Amino acid sequence: MKFLKRCWAETDLSAVGYNLCEYKKLLPEDTELMCVVKASCYGHGDDLIVPYLQKNFGVKYFAVSNLIEGIRLRDMGIKGDILILGYTPPEFAPELASYDILQACTELSYAQALSANAKDTVRLHGAVDTGMTRIGVHGTAEEQADELAEISKLPNIVLEGIFTHFSSADGIHDSDEEYTRMQSERFFKVKELLEEKGIHLKHAHIKNSAGGAYGYGEGSTLARLGIILYGLYPDPAKPLPFKPKPVMTLKAVVSQVKWIDEGTAVSYGRTFVSDKRIKLATVTAGYADGYPRALSNKGEVIIRGKKCRICGRVCMDQFMCDVTDLPDVTPGDEVILMNSEINADTIAALTGTIGYEVTCDITSRVPRVAVIRGLIKQSGK
Ligand SMILES: *Cc1c(COP(=O)(O)O)cnc(C)c1O
Repeated sequence: MKFLKRCWAETDLSAVGYNLCEYKKLLPEDTELMCVVKASCYGHGDDLIVPYLQKNFGVKYFAVSNLIEGIRLRDMGIKGDILILGYTPPEFAPELASYDILQACTELSYAQALSANAKDTVRLHGAVDTGMTRIGVHGTAEEQADELAEISKLPNIVLEGIFTHFSSADGIHDSDEEYTRMQSERFFKVKELLEEKGIHLKHAHIKNSAGGAYGYGEGSTLARLGIILYGLYPDPAKPLPFKPKPVMTLKAVVSQVKWIDEGTAVSYGRTFVSDKRIKLATVTAGYADGYPRALSNKGEVIIRGKKCRICGRVCMDQFMCDVTDLPDVTPGDEVILMNSEINADTIAALTGTIGYEVTCDITSRVPRVAVIRGLIKQSGK
């Protein structure tokens, strides 16, 4: 079948490459990239991006959120280390081993359960809670090192590394900087205590996108690059050393154009009533595509290079916008819902969330299409 131009997302691979290369320049020479590709590359299409990262940039480390995402990467032919940052039920220890996928280890009892369920060696990175209070061994640095040492002695598993996660490396306040430095110090203290016990690990990693960009966590063997790879800011309130290029362009088309008289109510609940005669276009995307309903009467889209405001509520599959200033607009015209100008961060600011959530929320019914130097490849094809 021909490509259905209804609502689709274009993934700009050259922007991915640009963001990766610019980010790499901010890291110390010996810090390697671990590309965080969870949630299908934050909604951008893992099968489009991950093989590209492996083939064109030789990326050797990837992080996912769960076993299914990890197996998907192996099935795509991804060779390097794949680390699951989230939880895998211990009964899946054999799958972790057979697919050679590394697992984040939250605590000793979990490592014991994995060890008991494993037949072949399961590779672990021990999570160290330094202040995110999400996962990882907790307590004093000494207690954390003791627990990790116990983990490292278990049969059927191998502790290859430790990691921690910054909670506030993108924060703009002095207290954020202080807290981030405290997390870093605590982490390397645990590493040092392990070394005193004769436990030398291949990896100790702490940098996320923000950590790497702002120079925190010196000594981290890996930088877990997520949001900046996709061209968005960890926090748009804090400038980055380079301007990342947004990777996603979300498009739809105009399905109908009409003039409406003054006083005409538009969409559910009649929240918009025209104050004069205006021209309206109906657009073929809605909240079932992940285009936020919170943009009702707030958002803007781009048609023929011009910004057009959304009129009335965004429906499940359609919405209306004001095209009074566009004399030639016609059904079939492309509508840009998101690009480098109106990007996920712009939308997030209007809807009270973060860019991460905006791109992750683009639903699976929206085809992802890779665009690079004029070539196009569709996700899942
Ligand atoms: C998601 C995640 C990252 C990536 O964070 P960004 O802010 O997108 O760079 C890194 N590490 C862990 C543990 C994560 O969960």
